[in-house]
Amino acid sequence: MNQDLPVSQAEEHRSAFNRRDFLGITAATVAVAAVGDLALPKQAYAAAMSTPIPATLPDLPWPDSALAPVISANTLSFHYGKHHRGYLTNLNALLADETSRVAQKLKGKSLEEVMFATYKRMDHTAVKIYRNAAQVFNHDFYWKSLSPTGGGEPGGEIAGMINSAFGDFNTFKTMLIDMATNQFGTGWAWVAIDNRKKIKILGTNDADNSLTLHRMVPLLTIDVWEHAYYLDYQNLRKNHVTAVVDKLLNWEFANQNLANLNR
Ligand code: FE
Repeated sequence: MNQDLPVSQAEEHRSAFNRRDFLGITAATVAVAAVGDLALPKQAYAAAMSTPIPATLPDLPWPDSALAPVISANTLSFHYGKHHRGYLTNLNALLADETSRVAQKLKGKSLEEVMFATYKRMDHTAVKIYRNAAQVFNHDFYWKSLSPTGGGEPGGEIAGMINSAFGDFNTFKTMLIDMATNQFGTGWAWVAIDNRKKIKILGTNDADNSLTLHRMVPLLTIDVWEHAYYLDYQNLRKNHVTAVVDKLLNWEFANQNLANLNR
């Protein structure tokens, strides 16, 4: 386990949210506080909080056979065509419910605003909206985190940031593979940036992501739900994760995300 991971920070955030729930502070207040906690430049807030909720599933950034043999077209047909599509269909149906007061309050919000407004809410509908909204965000980010020409060692700004945070790329790579492999049950591994602009490797459970759980802007993610690899690798998650890191991670996308924060 990486001793540098901000596990205690995550616990603090959980406690803070629990206190806010107890005190009856509104979801809107929590959302504002959550964004404020990012402590990044104003433009970065806008970049991190402005994804429109799509009415229909956006196209993948590459053909569905482009990631083979690391991720087969068969896996992608289920992962993108069934799982990702299902989350978006569920989200839009939940938000369109004219009888739901929760849904009505979320009209016109960005995907990230919907995530923050429903995070840790006790209301059953809000919980369902959060899970589906976060999974829509996570999968969209995941596809962009993969490239048929990805993998290997990064260049650009992130290369120096990895070296200063982890010493060298191989140490970082070993820790990322370890985090993704050992994330218990369903979840995600994230490369994200904290409010001191330091690179972090994080794990999140189920639909949680680095924004909602850790208040950290994501740079890359790896899906470690079984639906991401089981058809190709069965129970050998580490083989899948290692191949993704070696062959597919889109460092160009990570550098673009960093550049967005610097604008
Ligand atoms: Fe998935």
